[in-house]
Amino acid sequence: MARQIGFIGLGMMGAPMAANLLAGGFEVIGFDVRPENAKDLQGKPGFTLAPTLETLGGLSTIILMVPNSKIVDSLLWEQGLAELLARGGCLIDMSSSEPIKSQANAEKLRELGPAFIDAPVSGGVKRARDGSLAIMMGGEAEAVKGAMPVFEAMGKTLVHVGSAGAGHAVKALNNYVSASGLLAVCEALTAAEKFGIDPHIANKVFSASTGKNNTTDNKVEQFMLNGAFNSGFSLSLMRKDLDTALAFIQAVGSPDTFANSCTEVWRAADGGLPQPADHTAMYAYVHGKK
Ligand code: NAD
Repeated sequence: MARQIGFIGLGMMGAPMAANLLAGGFEVIGFDVRPENAKDLQGKPGFTLAPTLETLGGLSTIILMVPNSKIVDSLLWEQGLAELLARGGCLIDMSSSEPIKSQANAEKLRELGPAFIDAPVSGGVKRARDGSLAIMMGGEAEAVKGAMPVFEAMGKTLVHVGSAGAGHAVKALNNYVSASGLLAVCEALTAAEKFGIDPHIANKVFSASTGKNNTTDNKVEQFMLNGAFNSGFSLSLMRKDLDTALAFIQAVGSPDTFANSCTEVWRAADGGLPQPADHTAMYAYVHGKK
């Protein structure tokens, strides 16, 4: 595995992930359309900020951590990234992209030479910083095995879930499960409050009971009831993940009743809240506190 890694997309997640690659002994050549997002990486030993995408030419490992599949496809097929990668190299898409598009990207890249791994992450900014992300990989076993030292520098739970696109499928489905749990908590706390129950107390009970989930334990007190709404994961990215999950569920012909209603509420909140909004601001939307 090459020690030099190209890293495109140095935002809320990408910057701390790149910092962990540096801490793990890799050299990182970073690129972002907003170079100011790399300010915390500038000056760190082993980090270089690429002035243009072309500067990444010839690298054998390039990681993407950009907002969505549309940007991934534009970088690969319109801006020339596919041609820039070394023939025997590997493109690792760690963004939360669309599984069916990733499957197609893997096939098109294979014809050109480089391997493709989809390796989306879960755990948010906190776990991106402390290097304990969950990373779910899709792709050929040999490529995934070769990239393992890269994943080990950024994550703790590393699971090869299947062929190309499988990582992105599991990620979208995970976020659907997470977003539906968050929405249920928002509606439950709002109803409790309308009945005169202190929402802090209601959440304490959920947390110690069967209603416990990631939102009751890690979001309600930390980002929601205090009105901070600053977890670092935007509402529009969560809405995008729900659109991806719903489209995937429908594409494979699986039941979608609940996914449909849940996605509808997230789309309405994305359109109804002042932007940019954090995904935890769903509580403000449900509560009518815009
Ligand atoms: P972000 O918006 O903070 O960062 C994205 C970065 O990509 C920005 O710095 C942006 O300037 C850059 N970018 C956009 N287009 C580009 C292009 N064409 N070339 C180069 N750089 C470009 O988003 P984020 O929160 O870091 O999320 C990144 C990905 O990770 C998304 O797919 C998101 O769904 C996923 N994700 C986010 C979280 C989270 O908690 N924030 C958790 C898990 C997964």
